[in-house]
Amino acid sequence: MSRVQNIKGMRDHLPQAMLLRQHILTVITRVAERYGFEPLQTPVVEYAEVLEGKLGDEEKLIYRFEDHGGRRLALRYDQTVPLARVVAQYGGTLALPWRRYAYGPSYRGERPARGRYREFYQFDVDIIGSGSPLADAEIVALLTDALTELGFPGFTTLLNHRQVIGGIARVSGLDEEAAGGVYRAIDKFDKLGADGVREELLRAGVQAAAADHILALVQIEGEPEAVLAALTEQLAGDARASAALENLRAIIAGLAAMGVPAERYRVAPRLARGLAYYTGMVFETNTPHWPEGSLLGGGRYDELIGQFAGRPVPTVGLAFGIDRLHDVMEELGLGPRALATATAYVTIFNAELTGASLALARELRAGGVNTLIGLDSHAGLGKQFREADRKGVRYALVLGPDELARNEVVLKDLRTGEQRSVPRDEVLAALGV
Ligand code: AMP
Repeated sequence: MSRVQNIKGMRDHLPQAMLLRQHILTVITRVAERYGFEPLQTPVVEYAEVLEGKLGDEEKLIYRFEDHGGRRLALRYDQTVPLARVVAQYGGTLALPWRRYAYGPSYRGERPARGRYREFYQFDVDIIGSGSPLADAEIVALLTDALTELGFPGFTTLLNHRQVIGGIARVSGLDEEAAGGVYRAIDKFDKLGADGVREELLRAGVQAAAADHILALVQIEGEPEAVLAALTEQLAGDARASAALENLRAIIAGLAAMGVPAERYRVAPRLARGLAYYTGMVFETNTPHWPEGSLLGGGRYDELIGQFAGRPVPTVGLAFGIDRLHDVMEELGLGPRALATATAYVTIFNAELTGASLALARELRAGGVNTLIGLDSHAGLGKQFREADRKGVRYALVLGPDELARNEVVLKDLRTGEQRSVPRDEVLAALGV
């Protein structure tokens, strides 16, 4: 017997959910195109070796399988590694810097939880082939515009730099290898808190004094300028960290010049971001309404594409987590008031008048109005109004014998209950077209 059940961690999205998701997609696409980003689509399946060796610890979450020809394949884990393959494969034909966006599902063998799925959709934006801090700033400006247009209240983007954490590890007396353990421990800060991270560091072999020093530095908070000033002083002996702080300063100057409101971002040295391929700025955006995880995350990865292309291609980008945005918007009741594809419902008054109603529906569609029709010429008007209302349609139209004779249509606003007769040639205008 087959099970009538979807796979755990992979969701079905019924129409009301899909309409909200499509709204999210439309808004983000509009914002990305406003900044001149171009679309890219790649397959969901890649050769396993394309994905392997790029993700660090996360690699264990990749879904791998063999196809009928015995090839080792994998479901993509994100849309970043496939992008790197594309840049290497079509290198000569792509004019850099290239701004691309991509939308689609990614797959990770995670333990499913609230907001964490095995199949989830990401919307990525990346600027390929530029190391300019203006590129970093543009990505953050874009995400700020997108979340603002979606109506998110009170979101904050936390900014950091891989070499700030590296510097913190080094000035605390750790070598390069031990610094890797520091990233992993710090990455769990929001989950474990300071005490939990301290234990993780000790477990990774970090001395107690060094662990305390690291913890003191990663917890520096305040206005961006103040945090940068404090870190500059603390990390003065480390050239790479000093350069990273200069870079963050330039990015923040870019943000201000691009009009990103100051309350929308913070410098947070505790932000690590799990993925192994980041080399520069890293960031994620959170909202107090969703403590379980970030709405989106990203950063600069100047070496990943080089692993495929054999030459460095500096790149910065982010992935919006569409499922997170969807879950939070659903919970907060954000998004359009009515989620429906159709705005008009043309009723069928009776069997003889079916043709006249179908002609009216055709007229409305030709005028650009999404229109549903009643399918049952024996159903009463009340039943058809109820159906229209259930579908979230705003207007029901009635064409009875009297209206037909007077060349009019009855227009009923299902939201207010108000009903009036409208001359046939004014119907489109009455529907706001
Ligand atoms: P990452 O690709 O890990 O940098 O994640 C970028 C964004 O994708 C996160 O901020 C989340 O919003 C989303 N995301 C990552 N993993 C999952 C998952 N398992 N389920 C749902 N959303 C996810």
